[in-house]
Amino acid sequence: MRDFQAILNDIHSNIIKTKDKGVVASYIPELAHVDKNNFGIHLRTADGNHYGVGHFNKPFSIQSISKVLALAKAISFKGNDVWKRVDVEPSGNPFNHLSLLELENGIPRNPLINAGALVIADILISHLKNPKEDFLNFVRDLAGDPSISYNEQVAQSEKATGFKNYAAANLLKSFKNLENSVDDVLDFYFHQCSIEMSCSQLSKAFYLFVNKGKCLMDKAHLTESQAKRVNAVMLTCGFYDEAGEFAFEVGLPGKSGVGGGIAALLPNHFVITTWSPGLNRKGNSQLGMKALEQFTSKTKLSIF
Ligand code: GLU
Repeated sequence: MRDFQAILNDIHSNIIKTKDKGVVASYIPELAHVDKNNFGIHLRTADGNHYGVGHFNKPFSIQSISKVLALAKAISFKGNDVWKRVDVEPSGNPFNHLSLLELENGIPRNPLINAGALVIADILISHLKNPKEDFLNFVRDLAGDPSISYNEQVAQSEKATGFKNYAAANLLKSFKNLENSVDDVLDFYFHQCSIEMSCSQLSKAFYLFVNKGKCLMDKAHLTESQAKRVNAVMLTCGFYDEAGEFAFEVGLPGKSGVGGGIAALLPNHFVITTWSPGLNRKGNSQLGMKALEQFTSKTKLSIF
């Protein structure tokens, strides 16, 4: 039996010594205030145990990690029809790249780049009665934690500066791949990205992808096959144009966000989450990736 707490402690003490902590995202002005010395790591295993070190209970902006939860909710409404409006190929491009979208007639490469996430947001707006409230409640239910909230300042900060997302939404609309108005879709999307969660809350929320589509409360949100597919999309598309590197170094499906969080998992075994706000050149948490590489190397627990 592995001593997970000792393994996490060891990783934590290695990682916090690292001098180059990456660069905190500042293109959303409100994110720039976060201290890059924060570092947390948390593990939740399928046998019900959990372990954490560092700032694993401190909420941060989950940003693009929310795209996986939104995708799960959209699939629970639309099943395979989701894939008529968004593809499942890695883009090999940054999250906000637009040229492929035009070339490929408004069908985004995958649901985890911004254009794809905007289509998913559109699906949710069409299906939820009170979209922002209902989506937040879905995330709260997954994590079993009613304290999870949007950060209105972060949402407004992105609304004021998210020009590429406005461009993507307008392109999608011109290709008739949005049912709702550009403003409604962006408002929902900026809010979903502004959700704040800690590593330990994220480990709970992502548990359904470990557990064949059933959340911690044993409620089936996805079928086993749908959960398998979401995991496949995370593996191939979850790390911007560094998905290959993440699979190579870490070997787990997962998703990162520009707030510096990463949620990754081994189906049937565990969810592991990290938070370190400094990003590398590709926009992934520099120390988070390093920590996860150390975890799968030390434990030999990866999908490979
Ligand atoms: N809200 C951010 C954006 O659309 C999310 C980016 C990310 O975390 O990848 O730019």
